[in-house]
Amino acid sequence: RVGIDLEHLSKRYGDTVVLDDVSLHVEPGTVTALIGPSGAGKSTFLRCINLLERPDSGVIRVDRHVIEPGRAVTARDLAALRRSVGMVFQSFNLFPHLSVLENIVFPQRKVLGRSKEEAHDRAHALLSRVGLSDKANEHPGRCSGGQQQRIAIARALALEPSIMLFDEPTSALDPEVGLEVLAVMRELADEGMTMLVVTHEMHFARDVSDTLVVMADSHIIEQGDPRAIMSDP
Ligand code: ADP
Ligand code: ADP
Repeated sequence: RVGIDLEHLSKRYGDTVVLDDVSLHVEPGTVTALIGPSGAGKSTFLRCINLLERPDSGVIRVDRHVIEPGRAVTARDLAALRRSVGMVFQSFNLFPHLSVLENIVFPQRKVLGRSKEEAHDRAHALLSRVGLSDKANEHPGRCSGGQQQRIAIARALALEPSIMLFDEPTSALDPEVGLEVLAVMRELADEGMTMLVVTHEMHFARDVSDTLVVMADSHIIEQGDPRAIMSDP
């Protein structure tokens, strides 16, 4: 099990400060939900973890990777880091021209160099796990939003990450469909996957997380037990 340590991250775009000395420790095997108003810096913070964004300063420790400004990140380091960190976005980002199964096979072939047979076996197992075996040969466009998001989760899991990041995973979904996605995420949490979830849905955050972190104005303003924080007057 792998944790995440973010120490003193700062980031600005021109004159706009997006992260102002933000630190967070995510315990191995726990789920942290990150909430707060739009523009608070949540997405940017999340994206720093797998280096979709580089902070201007601060240290990122994920697994055995240490990223800090001034220290070059080689293509190899980056590939290793991205392999251990799975990411799921609001907009699914599936390959529309590939079947559901091929969506899950492709990264295993490309990133892990797995044989066709092994990749197919794993893809079938993952589809079964997210309850979508019957969709294997469909195209993603023929699947509902909730189904597409579960496919995106299966695809991320195919690389056997030790950490999963979710950026607004249910925001594009109707509430009842969001529950299907929540169920899959809960199962992952029960298996000890370390997860960090950005969401603006309070109920979802409360139901999924061990630790709730509230961000506003480029800072973390509160963190702790979700039930304690949400019962605040
Ligand atoms: P949140 O996820 O909390 O809504 P974001 O991290 O997406 O917040 O954005 C924080 C702020 O940073 C916003 O004001 C946003 O417009 C700005 N921002 C994000 N990405 C960029 C970028 N690539 N260039 C300029 N400003 C950006
Ligand atoms: P989300 O709400 O899904 O995080 P955003 O609308 O915040 O999406 O951002 C989508 C993309 O646009 C991101 O890559 C972000 O970095 C970029 N972005 C956001 N705000 C700005 C901005 N003010 N200027 C330039 N790029 C931005």
